[in-house]
Amino acid sequence: MMWLPCGCASRRVVSSFNRRVFRSYFHVEGRRRFNVAAFMPEAAGIQGLSDRSTLQEFSVSNGESFWAAAARHRLSWVSPFHTVQDCDLSRGRIKWFEGGKLNVSVNCLDRHVHTCPEKVALIWERDEPGSEVQVTYRQLLEMTCRLGNLLKRHGVKKGDCVTIYMPPCPLAVASMLACARIGAAHNVVFAGFSAEALAERIRDAQSSTVITVNQGVRGGKVIELKKTVDTAVDGCPTVQQVLVAMRTENPVAMTARDVDMEEEMLKEDAVCEPAIMDSEDVLFLLYTSGSTGKPKGLVHTQAGYLLYAALTHRYVFTYHDGDVFGCVADIGWITGHSYSVYGPLANGGTTVLFESTPIYPNPGRYWEMVQRLKINQFYGAPTAIRLLLKYGDQWVHKYDRSTLKTLGSVGEPINTEAWEWYHRVVGDGRCPVVDTWWQTETGGICISPRPSDPDAEIVPGMAMRPFFGIKPVLMDTEGKVLTSNNTSGALCISQPWPGMARTIHNNHQRYIETYCQPYPGYFFTGDGAYCSEEGYYQITGRLDDVINVSGHRIGTAEIEDVVNQCSAVAESACIGYSHDIKGQGVYTFVVLKKDVDVQETDLSRLLNDMVSKKIAKYACPDFIQFVHRLPKTRSGKIMRRVLRKVVERDLNSLGDLSTLDDPAAVQEIIQGHRELCGQQQQPPPQP
Ligand code: AMP
Repeated sequence: MMWLPCGCASRRVVSSFNRRVFRSYFHVEGRRRFNVAAFMPEAAGIQGLSDRSTLQEFSVSNGESFWAAAARHRLSWVSPFHTVQDCDLSRGRIKWFEGGKLNVSVNCLDRHVHTCPEKVALIWERDEPGSEVQVTYRQLLEMTCRLGNLLKRHGVKKGDCVTIYMPPCPLAVASMLACARIGAAHNVVFAGFSAEALAERIRDAQSSTVITVNQGVRGGKVIELKKTVDTAVDGCPTVQQVLVAMRTENPVAMTARDVDMEEEMLKEDAVCEPAIMDSEDVLFLLYTSGSTGKPKGLVHTQAGYLLYAALTHRYVFTYHDGDVFGCVADIGWITGHSYSVYGPLANGGTTVLFESTPIYPNPGRYWEMVQRLKINQFYGAPTAIRLLLKYGDQWVHKYDRSTLKTLGSVGEPINTEAWEWYHRVVGDGRCPVVDTWWQTETGGICISPRPSDPDAEIVPGMAMRPFFGIKPVLMDTEGKVLTSNNTSGALCISQPWPGMARTIHNNHQRYIETYCQPYPGYFFTGDGAYCSEEGYYQITGRLDDVINVSGHRIGTAEIEDVVNQCSAVAESACIGYSHDIKGQGVYTFVVLKKDVDVQETDLSRLLNDMVSKKIAKYACPDFIQFVHRLPKTRSGKIMRRVLRKVVERDLNSLGDLSTLDDPAAVQEIIQGHRELCGQQQQPPPQP
């Protein structure tokens, strides 16, 4: 199925014809009385609630009372907050729980160590199946404290920012929590980013300390992470030390600034006094792509973020004490932060850290892991589901999945075919599938089919219902709120919530311009959405120049910046196109400088190498088309709409071309595209 390209979100994607109404397996005949305290202890004191939808209404119309009750109940405070919120969306001022003091690592560790020290906090699902490692809350606290003390010994202070470049592993989680313990912020950089991308993020965050591992292991391959850090750090004058943990037994070259992390941790005390933090102190930065070339370091703060991650984890996934939560996202993305680390640990849960790939050593990997670890909630990405369904049902049927209770999807739209397969084959038709919409900026899930009444319908491929305290609205092109249903528009959120990012590191103006100014008084998400007749939301894609490759956000401008650095290139335009497995692929048009004489295949290879080296492999163009000129308006703006239509083979809706400077450019592009992609099929998945 094709997803709507950006900017034309008016078609209804899930027709009522192919819609299946799904009823949850714990449906009880007849109407039950709503026991609010049993469903949500945080809301026990709220009077007059008749069902979950009235609780939802209350959380929106009485946001302050709702969030105050939730914060008091779910978090442990050193001293209570005096002001629930002080927010002004139009000015980008967001403050929650002011006056409150707490420590996030205490909330994630110490309070559970007091009640159940030997409970498993982390299950590290290492690359080689069957070699998992379990870490209890007691052990994780000890690791965190030793590491906190080590960071302090190396001069890391409250307010500093530590960059973490590690694959998912217990020491990466301990590193995040150690920062939180001593009041430093962390900046986790996905360990698939190149040295240059890492260096850019270290410099922007002004980190003096980087934490890494000697080598990573993924899909049976060894990845030289320490070498990447060495290259990155050479261009980062702020970095004074690199803490190196040993993921493999292979020694790596150590320099004077490198510290053998595990050896030094052993010398540290196993107790580390937690720093007392204000609710609005920074917890972490996380870089993500926007529509300009420069990634933005979104800033999340302590109490609001933690509360939101914990609450969404508990209620979207119906997570209960004793469940094993399997989020397979990398910790380098916000999903890994909120649903591998902070949400589950704040709730005292058991969480899986997945180091491998969905097809290593074979396409049964996820389900073999579900069987072996007895996973109850599985949270993954549509791109992996689409890949696995192509390998056939037998890889799923081989394994016992009876422990599964909820299946989650995140990162990009999940098409109906993938949704149905996930539900029918993986979940044996009995597990609710929650398509969760959210973004790095929102801190946690904002729209998702659950929580809702246990027998409430779930529509395939729709995120559907706003979470507590979230009030989505759709805007038309004039900036007016669309009040009726069965309509499409720009997705905004009309009131602040505790999990939202507070600013962009070092650039509050960019925060205001990106999120607050497009629709004054509202938070603009950058996504388009459709609101169905019944009031359910379906995300239709980005409205800006951001594309989503296998769930990874990347700005087209970021790729163009790299391509344009090649001395043979005069200019380029990069767009996303529908891709069977990745969701979107990258298609780049390149105009060469005059008199450049190179083989196109050689240049394509060079450009791919450059993108891989400067950003990451996933950002490499799938197609590079060389053209003499790009379609431009008379004012010189590239008409991306036209390029998109050509690549999506939708030549009947090229639209008004009268403003084009040189209409012949379009014909050349159509012809070149036919030659490049004419017969080309997407390759079948490789085992
Ligand atoms: P990131 O900040 O990297 O998590 O990317 C967030 C973006 O991914 C959103 O703005 C959406 O464009 C897309 N996205 C995330 N979840 C979904 C979903 N369930 N359905 C559709 N798009 C999604």
